[in-house]
Amino acid sequence: MPTYLITGANRGIGLALAKHLAARGDTVIATAREQGKATELAEVASRVEELDVTDPASVSAFAERVTEPIDVLINNAGFYPNRGEPLDQIDTEAILRAFDVNAVGPVRVTRALLPRLRAGGHKKLVHITSVMGSLRSVDDANQKRSIAYRASKAALNMAALLLSNELEPEGIISAMLHPGWVQTDMGGGKAPLTTEQSAAGLVKVIDGLKPRDNGCFRDYQGKKIPW
Ligand code: NDP
Repeated sequence: MPTYLITGANRGIGLALAKHLAARGDTVIATAREQGKATELAEVASRVEELDVTDPASVSAFAERVTEPIDVLINNAGFYPNRGEPLDQIDTEAILRAFDVNAVGPVRVTRALLPRLRAGGHKKLVHITSVMGSLRSVDDANQKRSIAYRASKAALNMAALLLSNELEPEGIISAMLHPGWVQTDMGGGKAPLTTEQSAAGLVKVIDGLKPRDNGCFRDYQGKKIPW
């Protein structure tokens, strides 16, 4: 059975991914910032590891503990501050924090786990991004602000696309996936999708990834999203 590694899996979409994959018999190594917050996760994951993606010492200690090959690495941990504030109310420290979690974090984790991904059979690298990081989506009527989150996800998309080019010669398939608008602490109660629906869709898309899909930006149903 393939081994999946999922970051930020103690709640929300990460937890649903862990449950979905574990239920079909896959091996799931999942991370939480605090083990104590991960009781539900501990019931389904093969192993829960502590990881703060913004802390280089945490990332390197974590990478030393992960000694097995990883077939699919899912960079899922995310942070959404500054919801829609106008410019004069924006907390710029929160913008930096969003970039650290959403854009730099996946690069740190990918770099640290690259030897494990190289050793895996499936060689799939998945970044859970957002349609809100699409420059084209800024034309949409809703959510015109949210600079911290949207700019950090756009930065993730660029970083992930560059990584997809760099890692392609090694046979690593990278994908940037939007999970839909999902009922989580981040997505809120008005979101149309349950975490189970999103996770089931994401797993189907991940299962179907082929070398020709390297560098794609898709949603949880496999639909292409414009950059
Ligand atoms: P939640 O807010 O429910 O969960 C976020 C997860 O990320 C938590 O496990 C949290 O851990 C973890 N996390 C936050 N900061 C760090 C950090 N520094 N290091 C490690 N882990 C961290 O979010 P969702 O489940 O909704 O989101 C999952 C992913 O999906 C994110 O990347 C998000 O941007 C993306 N997404 C979500 C959408 C939605 O509608 N929900 C829509 C589009 C994209 P802790 O519990 O310790 O805070």
